[in-house]
Amino acid sequence: MSLARRQMLTGSLAGGLLAAPALVRAQSRPITWKMTSAYPKGSPFYMDGPGSATDLAKRIDAMSGGRLKIQVYGAGELIPALEGFDAVRAGTVEMNHANSYFWTGKTFAAQYFTAVPFGLNFQGINGWLYDGGGQALWDEVYAPFGLKAFAAGNTGVQMTGWFKKEIKSVDDLKGLKMRIPGLAGKVYAALGVDVKLLPGGEIFPALERGVIDAAEFVGPYQDRRLGLQKAAKYYYTTGWHESATVSELLVNKAAFAGLPKDLQAVVENAAAACNVISEGWCQRNNAEAMDDLIKNQGVIAKPLPADVVKRLREVTAQVLAENAAKDPLTKKVHDSYMAYAAKYAAWARYSEGPYHGSILDSI
Ligand code: CA
Repeated sequence: MSLARRQMLTGSLAGGLLAAPALVRAQSRPITWKMTSAYPKGSPFYMDGPGSATDLAKRIDAMSGGRLKIQVYGAGELIPALEGFDAVRAGTVEMNHANSYFWTGKTFAAQYFTAVPFGLNFQGINGWLYDGGGQALWDEVYAPFGLKAFAAGNTGVQMTGWFKKEIKSVDDLKGLKMRIPGLAGKVYAALGVDVKLLPGGEIFPALERGVIDAAEFVGPYQDRRLGLQKAAKYYYTTGWHESATVSELLVNKAAFAGLPKDLQAVVENAAAACNVISEGWCQRNNAEAMDDLIKNQGVIAKPLPADVVKRLREVTAQVLAENAAKDPLTKKVHDSYMAYAAKYAAWARYSEGPYHGSILDSI
């Protein structure tokens, strides 16, 4: 056999061998991961519907051609609601779907990747995360925990909440018993509100029986589902405390690094798709629910008095500054977020602000 012929045969043999693993890989069993959630099975937006955790798993399956399968578990099915951070960190599950502000006990900086009071709106938070250095900071904050996170949903702007009595001044907040979690709870507490922490399912009975005088939950669609309009008539707007609440897809960093590059891209891009799609779903459903609440259910919707908003804003700035001063990484995230917010607001004064006003005026 000539040398050329031998080389040709060897070459074709090598080609055949090179083709084989790809074929085997395509036919091999899919990678199966577990994703837990902080929300119960069947929860609209979080667990069911366009852009939810279940929808995210379906999109990952479809985009990967069935090579990456995500088994979705509601709160309590595999682990308790708020143990996702530790479970993903330990590798018990590969993913968790929740909100990063549940993890402020681990690192206060996590607050900025969900929502901070008087913070960025949906466009603004996406600008910061995708283009303004926010994602890189999220990666930096979670790296010591062996975690990586992506924005995977957004409620859009929430509502201040339900109040049994009208709020006319800052003094009306003193002694008011209100269900409100997180950082906004700390802000209200500084103004004399008696802050109560209650899970979603306990809000309606507490408000109806007068155990609490006021409560915030999410927005018109989710709040109406709990029946809050039957327990309080004043529905204050808008969501100074949660201007565009991000849902978080938390991933075990080592497991993510172990995925082939194309499947990493599938996870990242499916999360980004759900971030946008879920917010679209909220816009329509909130619009319909708000209309129904006002027209058919006797709800009085209005903004908080300007002096109340002013005080809430002042105390928010103090609370954020105090927490940022305690930890250099939180300070770094805070400074990045606030610098971006200032830039965004300066442009929005010429762009979205007047445009939005002109749309509302023309309807
Ligand atoms: Ca809320």
